[in-house]
Amino acid sequence: MRALLDVEALSRGYGSLVALDRIDLRIGEGERHALIGPNGAGKTTLLDLVAGATRPDGGRIRVAGRDITRLGPARRARLGVGRIHQRPAIWPSLSTLDNIAVAGARRRGGFRRTLPAARELLTSLALPDVAAAQLSHGQRRQLEIAMALAGRPRLLLLDEPAAGLSAVEFAQLSAVLDDLSRTVTVLLVEHRLDLVYAFADRVTVLRDGRRVLTGTPDEIRTSSVVRSAYAEAVS
Ligand code: ATP
Repeated sequence: MRALLDVEALSRGYGSLVALDRIDLRIGEGERHALIGPNGAGKTTLLDLVAGATRPDGGRIRVAGRDITRLGPARRARLGVGRIHQRPAIWPSLSTLDNIAVAGARRRGGFRRTLPAARELLTSLALPDVAAAQLSHGQRRQLEIAMALAGRPRLLLLDEPAAGLSAVEFAQLSAVLDDLSRTVTVLLVEHRLDLVYAFADRVTVLRDGRRVLTGTPDEIRTSSVVRSAYAEAVS
């Protein structure tokens, strides 16, 4: 499988803290890849680096063969890197539909041109077309995913989409993720391992800025190395 995301020896420190230490990661086109690990393992730092929100101290990031390491976040977004954050970033006073259309227009240009696709996303996610401020937390999560999809990303970075969801909202989110087209490659950071194991083709475990293991959900679930990485981190 061709690598859609190719991360090579990526490092990032904050002062004396090494948040990411020479991480290598290759994610195939259409793959659903999850990043897990204890708090502070470096998962969000890795997403930030791929999205261009922060710059690495060393290493290289390629998307579809193109070196994006030195590009800013807007250029990366135009090249197909979409993202949702730990806290939903929406325009509360705009309607659900307008949020999706504006997000699509920012990436692809032309609000009117993006409206039909925005309507389709709204319908497929069964979101009500009300002022976004009226949506529940779970609906905002789904809206943010729709907004990212409106930009037609090749690579979608999802940072803890299940955080703070009720059981019903969690089931809805799982269905939305399950229905994602395989034209989109996904890198998911998530603490809910039931979601990770159901969704991901492969999982990478980080701990203290290092890659512990990459494998299928079955390999990760049964790995004693992974279990001890978690156990040591919480003890
Ligand atoms: P969590 O699961 O808690 O979200 P994580 O695996 O996403 O954790 P990161 O947020 O990437 O971990 O943080 C990795 C390390 O880098 C942590 O020790 C964190 O405190 C530190 N760190 C992250 N961002 C900054 C920053 N802006 N300034 C200083 N230290 C930071």
